[in-house]
Amino acid sequence: MAGKLTYEYYCRPDLVCFLSNCHSLCTGTDIDMWQKNHRIMQKGSINVQTENIFPIIKKFLYSEHEIFLRELVSNAIDASTKLKKLVSLGKTDVELGDMTVEVKLDTTKKQLKIIDRGVGMTEEEIVRYITDIAFSGAEEFVKKYSGKDEAEVSGIIGHFGLGFYSSFMVSKKVEINTLSFEKDAKPVKWSCDGSPEYSITASKKKTRGTEITLHLDDDALEFNEEQRILGLLNKYCRFLPFPIRFGDEERTEPIEGKTDKDGNPEYKTVKSPRIVNNPEPAWKKSPADLKDEDYNNFYRELYPMTFDDPLFHIHINVDYPFNLTGILYFPKLKKNFEVQKDKIQLYSNQVFVTDNVENIVPDFLTLLHGVIDSPDIPLNVSRSYLQSDSNVKKISNHISKKVADKLEELYKNDREDYEKKWDDIRVFIRYGMLSNETFYERAEKFALLKDIDGKYYTIEEYRAQIKDAQTDKNKKEVILYASNPEEQYVYIDAAKAKGYNVLLMDSVIDTHFIDHMERKLENVSFKRVDADIAEKLIEKEEEKLESKLNEDDRKKVEEWFAGAKPENIQLHVQMEALADDKEPLQLIQPEFMRRMKDMSAVGGGMDYMHGMGDMYTLVVNENHSLISDLADTIDEEKRGKMINHLLDLALLSQGLLKGQKLSEFIRRSVDIIK
Ligand code: ADP
Ligand code: MG
Repeated sequence: MAGKLTYEYYCRPDLVCFLSNCHSLCTGTDIDMWQKNHRIMQKGSINVQTENIFPIIKKFLYSEHEIFLRELVSNAIDASTKLKKLVSLGKTDVELGDMTVEVKLDTTKKQLKIIDRGVGMTEEEIVRYITDIAFSGAEEFVKKYSGKDEAEVSGIIGHFGLGFYSSFMVSKKVEINTLSFEKDAKPVKWSCDGSPEYSITASKKKTRGTEITLHLDDDALEFNEEQRILGLLNKYCRFLPFPIRFGDEERTEPIEGKTDKDGNPEYKTVKSPRIVNNPEPAWKKSPADLKDEDYNNFYRELYPMTFDDPLFHIHINVDYPFNLTGILYFPKLKKNFEVQKDKIQLYSNQVFVTDNVENIVPDFLTLLHGVIDSPDIPLNVSRSYLQSDSNVKKISNHISKKVADKLEELYKNDREDYEKKWDDIRVFIRYGMLSNETFYERAEKFALLKDIDGKYYTIEEYRAQIKDAQTDKNKKEVILYASNPEEQYVYIDAAKAKGYNVLLMDSVIDTHFIDHMERKLENVSFKRVDADIAEKLIEKEEEKLESKLNEDDRKKVEEWFAGAKPENIQLHVQMEALADDKEPLQLIQPEFMRRMKDMSAVGGGMDYMHGMGDMYTLVVNENHSLISDLADTIDEEKRGKMINHLLDLALLSQGLLKGQKLSEFIRRSVDIIK
């Protein structure tokens, strides 16, 4: 081989040459000189100390062998992108033509081919990029991992730029047939059977580009299956920027003008290339070119099994200080939002990296769906590496900020519409406020509270609204809420009658959210409507009513009720002189106790409530006529019946009367009517 070399020819501006003394040698030197100085021979030995690196590559390079296909197809795409770029820069005048990348499987020969029409490689480039440079990465890798056992190494594979060599994880022999786009380039064939020996010979390849042939290993025959390869292409290559063809697809079509004797059209089978990817995914387009419908269609392309449209989307498009594109969707959250995690897909230059973004983006963002793409997300690294990568951190902070921006914009632009969406996004927003301080500060402005009548307020609006009626004697604002309007109806009614507003707090994370708000907002406490009798929910300086019972009767009545012990419930009796038209008995559950219990139920709270049974306070209204009647009842049996029945009524109002007790109560009530 002879010919003039130029610096540009070898050290392409987008690649750094690592060969020793290369810069001086590559400048205008001829190929013989270059080869001599780099000891490049037609037949060579791979320059690594280790006897055979392939067993190590096989064992440790990636824990999942399937990655090889992603790597080889990405290389094909890189080579195509480079050529397209050179053409657009006017550096070459080659005709691009059809740039489809082809993946071909020959199950009989057990061969898999990846064929591109990109830049191709000259012999020198093969030596440099495949043999020397890639192997210096391989050597580093081998040094680090040889002699270690699998358990030590698994999952800590770093970035070694060993993409091409991942093919040896599944092959007993790999061949490269390639023809460079450069004028007068000669096709070459590189072949390596997994030993450190390789050969370079002339090739018969006629068309520009590279064809990689994998001779599948006997223990990798799972990749000799069409469905397996198709599955991998769908997983990793779905949005790569050049069309990728894998075999053909067949469909039936009516033959024009041909019908059978009944007049029905006749059909023929038509074959067409099966393109497995969408080279122009929505996130790569300009937001100005997309309508809501396009975003929704793309959502369905990402999640074919999801039927609901997303609530809204955020199109991310940043090129400074880092490069980041993507579309995030707010899904309709189901009640059990845990199961919906892991729907965000991470891409690096349209190459799929992972759909498990847990610990990579803030926890609350994992409730979103969509795609994030950044060349700054490293491809060949383990999860633990991704988590600590500073680019990934910056990206994740940026996303939080974008999400807050979008929510604020929606809130400001159309409050009515935002309120309509609120029920679907509140879990997300509250979760974000709980788990991310920066997000809390942003969300304080647009997080809404909804009252029992369906009215919405911002936190600030709400506090202003309740300030007068719901400030207690210690100047604390008391926010009342209900978690289950059906069950707590009696208490809601009583609170409303006192002129109080009641919020609806019925989602799984609200117990935590309330706790968080109390810590954040000064002078505010939350109380569930059944945490106390209406008179005491918000303690004011009010005149105390005179009790109709004398001291002895009070003691008696208190003891009688304390002696009644309903199953599974611990009762504490509290005597109160209330208005005579208030219920004789009320069951309440002090806020603190109940909240501890709720916390341990949803996780994260202390668990010492466990096994104690439910604790309630039974408030006895000393001024109710039934209670004074009771105090006057001498007949013990009759008194017992009265106590039982009154207690059952109180239990009933908290939904605590069940099973046998309930049916006894019904029978007793019927008897009374009779
Ligand atoms: P990386 O892609 O990170 O550079 P690889 O090991 O995947 O590392 O590839 C090594 C080099 O081999 C590439 O940088 C490129 O120069 C060359 N190469 C690999 N595949 C092709 C191809 N299909 N066409 C042209 N060059 C290729
Ligand atoms: Mg690569």
